[in-house]
Amino acid sequence: MSFRKPILTENTALFIHGAGDVRVGKHTALEPQASEVMVNVAAVGVCGSDLHYYKDGGIGGAVIATPFVPGHEFSATLCRDLPSLDLQQGELVAVDPATPCHVCEWCAKGYHNLCPKVRFIGAPPFNGAMTQSLAVPESGLIKLPSGMTSDQAAMLEPLGVCIHAIDLAKPRLMETVAVLGCGGIGLGIIQLLALSGCQRIIGIDPQPHRMKKARSLGAHFVGCDVKAVQEITEGRGCDLIIESTNSPDGMLHSIQSAAIGGRVILVGIPDGDAYSTVSAAEARRRGLDLRFSRRMGDVYQRAITLVQEQRIDVDTLITHRFALNESPEAFRLQCDEAENLIKSMIYPSLEN
Ligand SMILES: [Zn+2]
Ligand SMILES: [Zn+2]
Repeated sequence: MSFRKPILTENTALFIHGAGDVRVGKHTALEPQASEVMVNVAAVGVCGSDLHYYKDGGIGGAVIATPFVPGHEFSATLCRDLPSLDLQQGELVAVDPATPCHVCEWCAKGYHNLCPKVRFIGAPPFNGAMTQSLAVPESGLIKLPSGMTSDQAAMLEPLGVCIHAIDLAKPRLMETVAVLGCGGIGLGIIQLLALSGCQRIIGIDPQPHRMKKARSLGAHFVGCDVKAVQEITEGRGCDLIIESTNSPDGMLHSIQSAAIGGRVILVGIPDGDAYSTVSAAEARRRGLDLRFSRRMGDVYQRAITLVQEQRIDVDTLITHRFALNESPEAFRLQCDEAENLIKSMIYPSLEN
């Protein structure tokens, strides 16, 4: 790795030091390399995956070795003009956190979201955007239509995760769909399902405020656990299940909620990186089609259109806002499943 000079000494960031240990401290921003540009972070969302680094100290093999700056859902302003991309200094952009290698077998097959050599801003060992300034690849910059806010631009990444899940799920007219877990991702998926013509959308979440939000965003039925799916469908189960929980029971509950011949899309990351034991017979006897959804494919332009044309409401998902100095509280509140919390947004340029 080439040596990179520090560029900003007066820069702060939120660091995860290990499981349960999150602090704000000084962070040296590194000089941009060729084909990179410095940006000032405008807004950065707290994602369920960030919470896994906080709760478990990592996700699977991606373990935090040194204090690590999370943050991959962000918008930023440019520190200089980029005429080749028709972007000007100070302009608000979204940043795709993923830079796949584009040369491996999996990239060649179109699985850029699964590239083992991806450089992903905010996934160890690559520090993320919960900081004031950082260098990002020019190839990741997303030009925005005028009028889009820094909140909306930061929400394009999680909305992209929802779009990718829908791409895999291929919802059909009039089928019965259950969304397990109505956090930011589940609520985005419910809105997209409603747009896709699904007429019987069931939102499941143990938290009352999330059930209420699911109802207001397009779910026709809501319930606090998977037993409700059986009640609502009178024991038939659902044609399609999209799981977006952090629960080790996510796979089990999805299988139990599925109808014969159903499709299950697993989007959530289970706590402890493990699923609870699943009955093989329950899955086999239904002949289920089971798929895992990771990150996203080609989604940004569709995400921008959905927000710009007000077909999807991302603003309603943001319930809590923090300056960088207060941001450790965002992690604690989300970990404690605080009342009325859906999505927290952090504003690194905001003084508090
Ligand atoms: Zn995320
Ligand atoms: Zn690759």
